[in-house]
Amino acid sequence: MSVLETKELGLTKQRQAVLKVVRSSDAHLTANDVFLAAKELLPTISFATVYNSLRFLKEAGHIAEITFGNGSSRYDRMTHRHDHAICTVCGKLTDIEMDIPAELIRQAERKSQFKTASIEFTLRGRCPDCAD
Ligand code: ZN
Ligand code: MN
Repeated sequence: MSVLETKELGLTKQRQAVLKVVRSSDAHLTANDVFLAAKELLPTISFATVYNSLRFLKEAGHIAEITFGNGSSRYDRMTHRHDHAICTVCGKLTDIEMDIPAELIRQAERKSQFKTASIEFTLRGRCPDCAD
C-alpha cells in the first residue's frame, strides 16, 4: 500500500466523498459542482463542509486548485505539473500534457531576470463544441 493510500484511510467520510467526486471527473469542477455531486453520495453534507474539505485535500496534496483571474476556483484531480486550455465561450477546462521547451523558459528568465519556480501555460480560445 502506498503512503498516499495509507493517508487517505484516515480521511473522514465527508472528505472521502469530496475526494471521490473530484477524482471521478476530468471537468475541473467548481466548489458548487462538487457540492451538488457530493450530496448524491452524502445527502446531509453542507456546502461549508465541502468547501473546507476541498481546502484540506488541497493542502494535503490530494487535489489541486486552479484559478484564472476573477473566475471561481476549479478543482483538479491531477496534482502533477500540467497545463490547461480554457474555452472563452462555455468555460470548459481541458488538460494539456506537454513539455515546456527549455529555451522558452530561458528566454523568459533572461527578459524578466527572474529565476523560475513554476511555469503555467494557459491556452484561451474556443473548444471544439463552441468552434464556429
Ligand atoms: Zn466551449
Ligand atoms: Mn488539470
